[in-house]
Formats: sequence, C-alpha cells, structure tokens
Amino acid sequence: MFEVKDSDREVFKQELADFLPGRIFDVHVHIFDRASFRGEFGPTDYRTKFGGKFEYSDWLAATAQILPDRDVYANIFGLPDRRTDRDAADRFTGLQVDGEHCFGMALTSPDDSAAEIGRRIAANRLIGYKPYWNFVRDKEANDIRIFDMLPAPLLELADERRWIITLHISRTGRLADPVNQRDMVEACRRYPNITFIYAHIGRAYYRSNVEGFLSGLAACSNAWVDTAMVNHEGVLEYTFRNFPRERIVFGSDAPIALLRGKSVEINNQYAYLMGENYAIGTSLHDPQSRIDFTFFYYEQLRAIKLAARAAKFGGTEVENIFFNNAYRLFKHIYTLNYGENA
Ligand SMILES: [Zn+2]
Repeated sequence: MFEVKDSDREVFKQELADFLPGRIFDVHVHIFDRASFRGEFGPTDYRTKFGGKFEYSDWLAATAQILPDRDVYANIFGLPDRRTDRDAADRFTGLQVDGEHCFGMALTSPDDSAAEIGRRIAANRLIGYKPYWNFVRDKEANDIRIFDMLPAPLLELADERRWIITLHISRTGRLADPVNQRDMVEACRRYPNITFIYAHIGRAYYRSNVEGFLSGLAACSNAWVDTAMVNHEGVLEYTFRNFPRERIVFGSDAPIALLRGKSVEINNQYAYLMGENYAIGTSLHDPQSRIDFTFFYYEQLRAIKLAARAAKFGGTEVENIFFNNAYRLFKHIYTLNYGENA
C-alpha cells in the first residue's frame, strides 16, 4: 500500500514547501475500480499496489499526506487499458466529479460513435475526453497517428461542445516525430474550439526530444501541454522558456506518480529507475535496494522547481502553472456545458 516515510516528509519540508503555492490543480489523475475492468492485475502491475482500485478519495487521501496544507483540485479519467469497460469507467468518473474541485474526462476509442461519446460525456458531466493509442486496432503503436485515435466525427463533436482533449501521442519519435509534428498542428488548426492538452509535453522525457520541437504547437493558441511524469528539469526549463506559460499546466499521472522512482535521461532515451518492484514502461530496478527513493511525484515537483528558477519564474507564474491556468480552463468548459449552478 501507499506509505509516506519520514524521509519523504523531509523532502517536502526542505525542498518543496516554500516553493509550492496554496492551491494545486493536477490535470492528469487516473482512477480505476474493479467493476470497470475485465481481467486481473499481475503482481508487477502497479495497480496491484493500490489493491486494484484508486479513486478520487484515494487521491485526496494521498495528497493530504504528500502535499500537506494544500488545497488540491483534479481532472480525473479512467485507465486506458484495452480491458477497461469505457462506459463503466466513465460512469465511475462521473460519480466523483463536482465541477469545482474535481473535473473529469471520458475515455474514447475510435470504435466509439460520436453519439455514444456525446451521451457518456453529458450523462457524467465531463468536460472532454482522453483517447489512447491502445484502443486503435490493427496498427502497431509506432504507426499510430493522432487521427487514428481521433476520427473526424469525435473531433467535430468536441469542437462543437468546446471540450478539452488530453492527448498522449504515439510513435517512437514522440514529440519530435515529423508525422506527429504535422498532425498535432493540423488538429489544432482544424478544430480551433477544442483545447488540446498534449500530455507529458508530448512525451518528451529527454532533452533532445523537446529541443527545437515546440514552436509549431506554441503558435497554436489552443495547444496546451501538461507536465505529467516529466522528471527532467532541462526538458521543463526548455518548455518554460519556449512555450506560452499560460498554456502550461501541472499534471502528475497519479497513481503512477505515487510509486517510488525517478525517470532519467540515458543517451537520448529515458528509463524509469524503480524503487519498487513494479514495471512501468522501460523500468530498471535496484535489486539490492541500495538507493533510498522518494515518489515520482516529488521528483516531478523538484524538477519543476529547478526549471522555474532557471527560467526566472516569479511567484505568479508558479501559481499559474500549478493552479490558475488549469482552473480557469476547466471551470470555463464545465460552466459552458453544464451552466453556472451546475
Ligand atoms: Zn496518464
């Protein structure tokens, strides 16, 4: 189970408490339960750590410990696993959203019709959706394009309702991939009323993947990025200097971020150094437990702090990235869709 040690509390106290603002909006939180999943979680699946269930109240309980005295807000969505029952996952999300502290997104597959997505989003008072490459059938991850995940009818509906789409781009080249570069900008231009949040800064977890590759998106006023699972201060600093600051939002990728570990750049690649016996992406383990790890969550916050200092951010800019940018956007879209007293 999730546990906070004295050494973690020290990290917060010594390194983060003075830096973090009073309100924190995490735009990238996954929730799940057994009822919306067909199958079993293996022993090294991180979902096992959380007993196969992680909901908004679990996230609140965890953040009460790791972000003491902070008023926390979240955008939540299910886990885009092929074995996830998307309808059940969206209902589970809908049960937890309140339109003030908690907002939510649907999970979409290209197999879902626009009518179906429209129904799931409205019934659950969600503000947009999150497609994912593994819902695309008959194509290798490396070949999947944005428009494979997002058929035109789904995009047209999102554009009409002004929804937000959190997009995890595929392909080995990630942010730097020339096809992605073209498609990301084209999606923004063709659907100007959608806010596209490119998750994990376009999955640019190492320096050479980000440098020189933000200018196309920076020029699109409806392109945003979230910082989820970016542990690299160089990637963040580059983003802070080269992407409009009012369109950068903090995300953690909890509950993965509640594991112990750190993502590191290695020779123009990256890997997860794992402090626990779970596997996420390319995981390298420490079998003799030589290293005292803290949470990915704290490694992200540490990196943001270093990057914010390097980019000479003032307190207001820090508050904007951690709270104001996201709150304004999510509250606005919620109110547009469900009214003032929703
Ligand atoms: Zn995620």
